[in-house]
Amino acid sequence: MGLSFFNTLSRTVQEFAPLDPAGKKVGMYCCGPTVYDSAHIGNWRTFVFADLVRRYLEFKGYEVKHVMNITDVEDKIIKRVRETRTTLREFTSQYEAAFLDDLKALGCLEPHVKPRATEYITEIISLIELLIARGIAYKASDGSVYFSIEKYRGCGCNYGQLVNLNFDEMRVGERVASDEYDKESLADFALWKAYVPEDGEVTWDSPWGKGRPGWHIECSAMSMKVLGESFDLHLGGEDLKFPHHEDEIAQSEGATGKPFVKYWLHGAFLLVEGKKMSKSLGNYFTLRDLLAKGFTGREVRYLLLSAHYRGTFNFTIDGLAGARAALARIDECVGKLRELGAPASGPAQSELVTRFTTALDDDLNISAAWAAIFDWVSETNKRLASNSLTLAEAAATLAAWEQVNSVLGIGCVAEAEAPAEIVALLEARQAARKAKDFKRSDEIRDELKAKGWVIEDTPKGPKLKKL
Ligand SMILES: [Zn+2]
Repeated sequence: MGLSFFNTLSRTVQEFAPLDPAGKKVGMYCCGPTVYDSAHIGNWRTFVFADLVRRYLEFKGYEVKHVMNITDVEDKIIKRVRETRTTLREFTSQYEAAFLDDLKALGCLEPHVKPRATEYITEIISLIELLIARGIAYKASDGSVYFSIEKYRGCGCNYGQLVNLNFDEMRVGERVASDEYDKESLADFALWKAYVPEDGEVTWDSPWGKGRPGWHIECSAMSMKVLGESFDLHLGGEDLKFPHHEDEIAQSEGATGKPFVKYWLHGAFLLVEGKKMSKSLGNYFTLRDLLAKGFTGREVRYLLLSAHYRGTFNFTIDGLAGARAALARIDECVGKLRELGAPASGPAQSELVTRFTTALDDDLNISAAWAAIFDWVSETNKRLASNSLTLAEAAATLAAWEQVNSVLGIGCVAEAEAPAEIVALLEARQAARKAKDFKRSDEIRDELKAKGWVIEDTPKGPKLKKL
């Protein structure tokens, strides 16, 4: 079997075959952030997972169109806009910008399209009109438009494709207006919410009067507009399976009569220090909290990528320290290979690439992929220590690493990456040493250390290394 993923839709591991008859183009949608707060480390696990899927598909030669929406109108956002007395755009733009900065700090490739819900109101209204025309949606007495689960099921459609639902508990016509609800609240859900005074200025005109879209319809409208009525991959955290993703399927398939998504991939939960993350337990971390503790985005990325996406992951500060040590091992090995002066070109050393590919083809078996990498590090270190690596071999092994790293995106800290201020200090230290001012030279060394950098004197001159 080639590349395969666990598809939540079929509850099995399935071989990946894109809808594109040429087998080349892949459409991939991952539910993006709701920009009302900073994303926490559990959210980041999902985005790093999506980045891995995209990078691996590209590595396999697919042409991926990666879409991640920005939810910039939703219940929680409106509440915060009201509380902070700002405008919707003012409020959401600061969190959107911070999110994109963090995405970059974590080494994630920027999605090709980042649609904002507020810029797709026309498409959202058209989709709701289509659902009304098909008899699946209706305007209720409160002025809002709801999706009728009974009518949808009556058309032979299946509500409950991602989760098992107990319809015996359901009371026909019962409605739920809020964007988030649990399985026990199985009920008709809001597509368009009629204006209420609490919405303030957050409102749009529609054929049903003033109001705003529900959260679920936003993703159906944006994903189908950008990727077409049927597309290959839809990703998200497992907490979004119900109701959000189930509702996306119902709205999309109810409107088009076509299968919405071929493969649904869900990333599992994250615990912090063995417990569910919560602000009151003090184990609630945003990326910025971790950067403030002195960790890097690269270390956080490594840790998030160290476990299989479908397993619950226990994120710990000790784990971050372990990530730092593991990355240092890789950096040292790759650094030594580079010092040999071999270009990372020519045919790649096949064993590493083969083992890595075999592992990731198997529903992204990342543990086996890391095992291949650390075996490669040990073997390379042995060969380096015994001086038995030819220049051609060094080039091939470096080329293999570059290929693997194009998927992992954990890079390698090179000297050039030291900030200008740090490089300037290194130069000042060299000047002091040249002038035999060893007191000054030591002071600078201490200053560098305080800033997290050490100088290693090598036969080829001094090198900066991150602590
Ligand atoms: Zn979504």
